[in-house]
Order: sequence, then structure tokens, then C-alpha cells
Amino acid sequence: MQRRNTLSPQTQAAQALHMLDSANGAVVPPMHSASTFARDENYELREGFIYSRYGSPTTVQGEQIIAELEGAKSTLLFNSGMSATVAVVEALPMGAHVVAQSMMYHVGLNWLNRQASRGVIGFDSFEAGNLAALEAAIKPGQTKLVWIETPANGDWSITDIKAASRLAHAAGAILMCDSTAAPPCTTRPLELGADISFHSATKYLNGHSDLTAGVLSVQADLPIWSEIRSVRDFQGTVLPGFEAWLLIRGLRTLFVRYDQASKNALALARHFTSHPAIERVLYPGLPSHPGHRVAAAQMTGGFGGMMSLLVRGAEGRALATAKGCRVFIPATSLGGVESLIEHRRTVAGPGHGIPGNLLRLSIGIEAMDDLIADLEQALDRAG
Ligand SMILES: *Cc1c(COP(=O)(O)O)cnc(C)c1O
Repeated sequence: MQRRNTLSPQTQAAQALHMLDSANGAVVPPMHSASTFARDENYELREGFIYSRYGSPTTVQGEQIIAELEGAKSTLLFNSGMSATVAVVEALPMGAHVVAQSMMYHVGLNWLNRQASRGVIGFDSFEAGNLAALEAAIKPGQTKLVWIETPANGDWSITDIKAASRLAHAAGAILMCDSTAAPPCTTRPLELGADISFHSATKYLNGHSDLTAGVLSVQADLPIWSEIRSVRDFQGTVLPGFEAWLLIRGLRTLFVRYDQASKNALALARHFTSHPAIERVLYPGLPSHPGHRVAAAQMTGGFGGMMSLLVRGAEGRALATAKGCRVFIPATSLGGVESLIEHRRTVAGPGHGIPGNLLRLSIGIEAMDDLIADLEQALDRAG
């Protein structure tokens, strides 16, 4: 038999690492929901499991699959994306300086501002995608964590992960990359120099909008890693067995879902670029996007389904377009098989730099013509 680690990630994902049940041959791993685990006749733990606040066999299987896809040495699953990033910040030494983008996932930014205002961390932000601004925000010796998000929520600006890691490392900091919009079928941040790869697994990794999860992966023995694990152990923010089981099911189709979403999104972005009601399409797959060149180099499996449209005219027209869609669903979140439309400023609030005429689209796997026709009619009626 071929050695598992010579197989391509797409095969590994489709077969969930070929985890057949040796007793009965089931091709799907079972779902473990037990909260506690019996010791053996010598009063030893059987496979290291003791109590489900520290993890369960199903959660560990999910972690093994994602580690394989990320090229990671170790992976930890959390019960939300936010609980994963909160654990990273909690694990930093008291008073550590953190640098992150001024435009990024808004709740993460709110958390950093909150911790800074309580004096737990020092915090400075920089303009997303601007490496000179990143370099200027880093305080050599004091900055412990550089947190980038690429493509980034809002305008889908792109950060060169290799370049950002060089800047972080030169100053003695670690780089965490929020790669939620670019799952491992297109970008493997650890191979590009990130120390921690983070995803809200609620999004593309699961892909079916039926759970919340977060995941952190590392390639090397990072001193902060055991601290991050203890934060999860103390707080019980591990992903429970049932959600891990659903996530494993979602991961099996990651490559085909992402590929279809990328194809739909590129076609839709091209179509609306010349539409009279649209001022601008923000999509890294278009050569007109300022991050296109870097995106093409570090998103090797497609540009994904995330884009924003700047609608011509007043904010009301963008809102009316979101309300007028019949195929696009007016909901937040992203990376699911169904297409979503969102008036982002309503959701993120003011103070996050989101223009009032911006509509965020998460393109799913539906027939592309249905999506284009739906937006056309909604724009017409809003016009
Ligand atoms: C959704 C999201 C998060 C937060 O993840 P949750 O699973 O919602 O807690 C973080 N970063 C990005 C880019 C996201 O889209």
C-alpha cells in the first residue's frame, strides 16, 4: 500500500485519512460523545483520554486531518474561531505588544481593543496589505504577536505572508495568519513562514453552516503552544465530539466546494465589473485588485468565493439590493455551500472602515447563472 503521507491532500481529505474502523470496516469514523473515559485494569489511561474538556477521540481525528492538510506538526480545534484566537492572546505574556490590521474580522479587532483598554496587552494596528505600515507598527523586542488576515474581511486586501513573517521574525515576534478565507486547499500559511495558522472552521473548512469551530496549527515547537493548549483545557473551549464529527464530514468535500465557489466567484466578479450600478468589484482574483499579484502567488488553488461590491449611489441602494435578493441569503458568515449577501457596515458597525455602499458576498456552489440573474434583478429593483 502507498504510504499515507505520499498521497495528495485532496485524497487525504476525501478519505478522511482513510480512517477505517479496523473492527467492522466502517468507512466513516464513529462519533464519540462520552464526557469521561474508563481507565484500564492497571488504572492507566487507554489512549490518553481522561475527560472531554481536554478533548475526545473524534476531535483528535479532526485535528489529524487538518494537520495533514496544513502540513502542521500539531493542530488544536476550538469551539469557535473566536475562542481559538482569544486563547492565543491569553497565552501571551502579560503586557505583550500585539500588532494587527485596522481592517480585519471585526470581532477579533474588538477583542484586541478591549484587552488593550484593560491594560492586558499593548496594541497597535496597521493598514492591511501595507508592509511598510506593518514594519512601522512593530516594536522590536516588545512585539510578541503579529496577526495578519489574508484575504482580509472588508476589501479582501492581500498580505504577502512570507514578507510579513520576515518582518515579524526580525523583531522577535511570531506571526499568526488568519487564513479563514483561504483554506489549505489554496494556501498553506505554515509553509510560507507563519508560526500559527488560524481558521474559523465555521467557514470553508466545514462549509455547511451547521456548526461553529476554530482551529490553530503550528509547524514547529512553539514555546507558546503548550500555554495555548492549557488555556483551552482550563476554559473547556475544545470542539465537542458531535461538531468534530460534522466537521470531518465537511472536510471531505473541501477541495471541490472551494473550487466551485472560486469558479463561480471569478465569473460573477468579471460580470459585475462592467455593470452600470456597480462602482467597483473588490476580488483578489481580478487583475484590477491591488493584491492580485501576491494573491496569485500564494493562493494556488483558486481565489475563493469572497468578494465585495461597491454599489453606485447612496447607502440605501446597497441595503435595498441586499433585501431584494431571492437566491442570495441575507445573512452573515461565509464559506458555506449557499451564497450569502451582507450589508457589512450594518453588521460590523461604524469604526471598522467599511463603506456604506459595500455589499459583502460569500459565493457558494450554486449554478452561476442563477446567482448573476438574482443580483441583476436586485440591483435593478434597488436602482
Ligand atoms: C468568522 C471569522 C472569525 C471568527 O470565527 P467564529 O467561528 O465566528 O468564532 C475569525 N476570522 C474570520 C476571518 C472570520 O470570518
